[in-house]
Amino acid sequence: MRKLLVMLFAASVLPAVVPAQEPDPVAQLVTRLDLEKYKATIKGLTQFGDRRQGTDRNRAAVDWIEAQLRSYGCADVSRLKYDYQAPAPRARTDTAARAPARDTTRASGGGRYRGIRARTGVNTDSLRQPDPRVRAIDAQPTTPGAREEVYCTKVGSVHPGEMYIVGGHMDGHGWGEAANDDGSGTALVMELARIFSGPDVHTDRSIRFVLWNNEETGLNGARAYVEQRQALQGSAQEPRWLGMIQHDVMLFDHGMPRAGGTLSPEQRPEADVNIEFQSNSKFAAQSRDLAFAFQAANEKYATDYPATVGAHMTNTDSAPFQDVVAAISLRENERGTQIGAGWDPNWHQPTDLYSTYNDKDFRLGLNAAQTTLAAVAGLVGATIK
Ligand SMILES: [Zn+2]
Repeated sequence: MRKLLVMLFAASVLPAVVPAQEPDPVAQLVTRLDLEKYKATIKGLTQFGDRRQGTDRNRAAVDWIEAQLRSYGCADVSRLKYDYQAPAPRARTDTAARAPARDTTRASGGGRYRGIRARTGVNTDSLRQPDPRVRAIDAQPTTPGAREEVYCTKVGSVHPGEMYIVGGHMDGHGWGEAANDDGSGTALVMELARIFSGPDVHTDRSIRFVLWNNEETGLNGARAYVEQRQALQGSAQEPRWLGMIQHDVMLFDHGMPRAGGTLSPEQRPEADVNIEFQSNSKFAAQSRDLAFAFQAANEKYATDYPATVGAHMTNTDSAPFQDVVAAISLRENERGTQIGAGWDPNWHQPTDLYSTYNDKDFRLGLNAAQTTLAAVAGLVGATIK
């Protein structure tokens, strides 16, 4: 009798049916990314041409980005201010003449070139821009002096004093519209700022969205941020950094140049998002772990394109952070061995125009956005209420 009562009691407290699983907030947030919105943000940035640092068009772009961040409801919109003076041109000296020949099989960042390589470089000739409208927008030359870059923050509700930094660079060059380099990364960061700022989105930890300036002159905007704010970490002015995630050139993965230098006109079906960390940095192990967390997020949540991890992150705004905190970059290709070998023929060229790309290209950038959104949402404990 006693045994029967215990059994009846147990049956009464056990739920009759297993309740439905709570919907995954990360999956819900990822569905808030939209290809047309992402494209519209890139298009909005291209109204300021190549957004070269030290020009009125660059300053107008910073103002426009700030207005967008405010319209999204992103908190604490702020500007970092610094001064930029171009270094004096280096004279050819005896030392340069005596320097050992560079190993041309090794790419920037430490990787090794394979296969066919095509020429790369920065276009500085206005006449190579055939469209007079774009040429006119890009006409004003740069002048040295005061610079600004804008950021805003999703403030965490449990640990507001700890944050991930999500960045892209808003300046460009080359007499085009800098649509891919780096309108694509800037728009990605802005779209994430929009979604995380949604009034029903809550995070345990903070996220700072930064649109770096002066990347193309040597990462000067990101360096200024590290110089001015590294020592403030843990104070009321600056949350402690948990990681830095950079987005730089997100759209174009048409593969290796063919013999003769031509490229596939279409996004290759096996295109991927390249997540890189720098194996030769103080935070290599932490950065590697962060990179693989991003790859796992891509595998679970990105709709079309996979992600590949590489160990040779280089030449981007995450570099000034790599000896301070876990730091990674996301790109269309590896920066050293692939972009450096001519895989992106529009890179720093007059053809880096919004009209150069089609939806298969834009979709690679959207998949990178899905990857970072999902990974960061998991890391900061995002929920929807
Ligand atoms: Zn770039």
